[in-house]
Amino acid sequence: MDSNGVTLDDCGIAELAAAVSTLSDSIQAGKLAEFTDGDVTALMRQLEACKRQLTALDTRLIIEAGERSLHARSGAGKMVPFLRHTLGLSRYDAALRVKVTHHCGEFIEPTGHLRPAVLPVMAEAFAAGHISRDHVRNIMDVMDHLPLDIPVEARAEAEQIPVDYSREGWPDDLPKIGRDIVARLDPDGNVVSDADRRRRRGITLCRPGVDGMSRIEGWITPELRALLDAVFAKLARPGMCNLEDAESLTATAGFIEDKVLDAAAGRDRRDAAQRTHDALLAMLQPGVDLSELGYHRGMPVEIVLTMSLADLERGTGVATTASGTQISMNEALRMAEGTNPVLAVLDGKGMPLYLQRSRRTANHAQRLALLARDKGCTRPGCEQPANMCAAHHITDWAKGGPTDINNLTLACDHCHAMINDGRDGWKTVVMGKDSPYAGRTGWIAPKGLDPTGTPRVNQRHHVGQAIAAAIDSSCRQWRSQAA
Ligand SMILES: [Zn+2]
Repeated sequence: MDSNGVTLDDCGIAELAAAVSTLSDSIQAGKLAEFTDGDVTALMRQLEACKRQLTALDTRLIIEAGERSLHARSGAGKMVPFLRHTLGLSRYDAALRVKVTHHCGEFIEPTGHLRPAVLPVMAEAFAAGHISRDHVRNIMDVMDHLPLDIPVEARAEAEQIPVDYSREGWPDDLPKIGRDIVARLDPDGNVVSDADRRRRRGITLCRPGVDGMSRIEGWITPELRALLDAVFAKLARPGMCNLEDAESLTATAGFIEDKVLDAAAGRDRRDAAQRTHDALLAMLQPGVDLSELGYHRGMPVEIVLTMSLADLERGTGVATTASGTQISMNEALRMAEGTNPVLAVLDGKGMPLYLQRSRRTANHAQRLALLARDKGCTRPGCEQPANMCAAHHITDWAKGGPTDINNLTLACDHCHAMINDGRDGWKTVVMGKDSPYAGRTGWIAPKGLDPTGTPRVNQRHHVGQAIAAAIDSSCRQWRSQAA
């Protein structure tokens, strides 16, 4: 690096690098064994924040290099090849760093004025080490897909939502949050319309190969996806419709005992794609009536659409299926007319108000209410949708816990196995009246992970509610003007 006139010490970067180096040395020195579990977790968090802040420093250095025209003077031409040659980066990595710089950096314009960051809220959180570059990449993608004509305040609000989520949440969830934001800002589908999706739909069965096998490719609509998910949840699960197992359970098996299914699943060596193939084959067998598939893990094998009352009244936003697929309100209402799904409508706090087609047994209504309230596994951070969960007792049935909705919660098998009274066990409680999440299930992590023992809820399946409230506050006026 050409450091004429400016030394590394002047920038403070040398000290930062030294601090990282010192921290790294102390870990290498082998004192980790003396740490408590909580200390190890805290150190991992501290290091992650440190690495994020270092990553954010790239922006300043790339701007500095650009202003000095280092890329042009080095003969590389543009900034991406300059970074590749200088740092040995992949094309993807170099291009991403330049894009992040464009969105997070403050540039001096030819007029001498400082141009603020394109996404200032995100830039600040990134520089502070609160969010990672993966978060930044996905937030940029969300913002690129917003309608062009929304007012400045709505754009600022729309930036705030994924940034706030990212401080505690995962980068992988951001596309879903983005779809929710677009559905609310663009209820008429000017950016991604149902018509666009219908235009793109198509399934191609390619020409069979020498071995007789055919490749299948294409794009399916959210509606077909929701229907397939509901059926695959039952027919494609381990132990069902297995072509390699003569005693496997078939699509016409009717009521299946848990132990019979567990035994069949134990013999099942297929991967997920093979199970999906066999389920499709099973669906097409004579005598299979998909409306008679009954239950899968206590959930009905039918479309369950969950939506908020406010969205339903306005006709905006999204409805969610038991497998977590998002469907625009227009499509959901069309499906409600045609395929007769179960409709669950939620109030402003996400509690079920209305369940269409409540059946005879209390059991069925309870399960639907659970599905509508919890939407998926309730352990903080778990992304398993409702159709991969079973209803579990919060206060154990063996300890006198009643089988009523207030004592039941959705948990996937993996998370349910983590609940026990041992040192590493998790505990569940019902959040009290004073909590903003009253009535929902709180999970208490083992001491090693969280010494404070604070019960936390899983916000992963509930982000839509927060988005609805935030977007509403900034867009109500704009919508009424546009109408
Ligand atoms: Zn789970």
